[in-house]
Amino acid sequence: MSASDFSAEQQQYLKGFFAGVEARRGTLTPIGNEAGAPPDLMRSAQDRAIAAGGKLTEAEIAKREKHPLDRWPEIVTRAEDAKFPKGVDVLLARWHGLFFVGPTQDSYMIRLRIAGGIVTSDQLRGIADLATEFGNGFADVTTRANLQLREIRAQDGPEVVMRLGDLGLLPRGTGADNIRNITASPTAGIDAGALLDTRPIVRALNHHILNSRDLFGLPRKFNIAVSGGGLVEVLEDTNDIALTAVRTPTGIMFRLGLGGITGHRDFARPTGILVLPKDAVRVCDAILRVYIAHGDRTNRAKARLKYLLDSWGLVTFLEKVEAELGCPLTRMDEATIEAPQAPLRNGHIGIHAQAQPGLFYVGVVTRLGRVSEAQLRDLSAIAERFGRGEIRLTVWQNLLIPNIAEADLPAVTNALAACGLTHEAGPIRAGLVACTGNAGCKFAASNTKRHAMDIAEYVEARITLDAPINIHLTGCHHSCAQHYIADIGLLGAKVDRGDEEIEGYDLHVGGGAGPQQKIGRLLTRLAHDATGPAILGLLRFWTEQREVDESFQAFSARQPDDVLCAVIEAEIAGR
Ligand code: SF4
Repeated sequence: MSASDFSAEQQQYLKGFFAGVEARRGTLTPIGNEAGAPPDLMRSAQDRAIAAGGKLTEAEIAKREKHPLDRWPEIVTRAEDAKFPKGVDVLLARWHGLFFVGPTQDSYMIRLRIAGGIVTSDQLRGIADLATEFGNGFADVTTRANLQLREIRAQDGPEVVMRLGDLGLLPRGTGADNIRNITASPTAGIDAGALLDTRPIVRALNHHILNSRDLFGLPRKFNIAVSGGGLVEVLEDTNDIALTAVRTPTGIMFRLGLGGITGHRDFARPTGILVLPKDAVRVCDAILRVYIAHGDRTNRAKARLKYLLDSWGLVTFLEKVEAELGCPLTRMDEATIEAPQAPLRNGHIGIHAQAQPGLFYVGVVTRLGRVSEAQLRDLSAIAERFGRGEIRLTVWQNLLIPNIAEADLPAVTNALAACGLTHEAGPIRAGLVACTGNAGCKFAASNTKRHAMDIAEYVEARITLDAPINIHLTGCHHSCAQHYIADIGLLGAKVDRGDEEIEGYDLHVGGGAGPQQKIGRLLTRLAHDATGPAILGLLRFWTEQREVDESFQAFSARQPDDVLCAVIEAEIAGR
């Protein structure tokens, strides 16, 4: 007798019966890996690595023993005992958005998931409640247009995660070996200069990820950015997948870039592939599956997509993606493509007209991303009263309030001032970005946020700039603030001073992204208290010696290292 001798109903009954027998024997396979289910991609990739003679990393072994998404009960039990994770469990808890940040702080940081950076006023108010009730009273806007809550106690971690889920912001996969918050043009749908409204694509992609268990078993972290064009830069070429809207003879499509990781000095490489907006989710899914199957499981330092592309070459990688997709990708002739308009440097700050006549968005300055719970509530109220109850976060660690009528602009700017915020910033503060630094991150060599403010105060008191400038401070090589793409990029380092080691930075110049794509070059290492004078010296030299309209990037590119170092030394000596 074979299975076909039973009716569908009988087969279903027998399947359930034997599953029950298996369960009583304790041999039931884990949820998501039932007999007959598609093979587990992560496990197959690990099997392949082992068969090839490789030794799985400790993280891969832990992921193999039990899928991190299935470890929620352990997280809850740990919280009931008021304990933080230890060892590899620190990494595994990040699948649920919980980042134990010891020894720097004896607490969790919880990173949210806000696809495209768009959050409603209700959600923002809910986040403010969580910051007040469980955190330190602040939320930090990140360089992935996201929010982080800090100083959460061990016993409160799961409750905050559940409350975020209640708000529609379940922080699943926001850390560790997962697809991070999708970034996208923050002016999507309101920008006359944009080629495409990216919101439906980002929403669909975010839900596709959240509903695809296979996409939670990557070799390492993975970043996706979607640019529809417009005023505000998304820095998509710094992502593993970079989708950039372009005009083609047959309509608007995405140009595909792959393998961006500027901490490793690489931008997303052009692929020659165009993707129809309607196919964006499928193509991203296929790319991810090829990476999951073939990314390095034996060396975390080489486990990012860039290294798979370096090892295979683009042609082989794209062939594998096509095999996964089951159809060819669309190649393009670059000459037929019309690139999007260059974004406006500092388009994330100030008042800007929208595509909708009579409406404006207001770009609000934050203190390097930090916003108090009171300010979160005030921003919610402003967005509700004068806008449409929506706030948009940007990769520049700030936020936009869209859909403000012209007549209401004075009231909005007054309301911002009343809560200690502003829509105005000079070139230094508008382009100032800093990662968490050693106030909240164990990897940091320096206090990036404090030193960034020190630099801004020192430089702004001594020079007035008439052109944009980006100064980025990153605490370690993880490069959360992307120091390599700044006009002036600072990477945390220890500096000897007499018998002691003090906080300092490696100073780079000449970086940029998008139309100014370039990795900054290292000039020198400085103590933190020398960075203000050093930057002032460079900016003075630029403003005094530049050609008409010459950017800092272009100016610094034509100056030899010894000339720039001499300028820095002279300014430090004369301060
Ligand atoms: Fe921490 Fe390094 Fe990221 Fe800064 S760049 S937040 S120090 S991991």
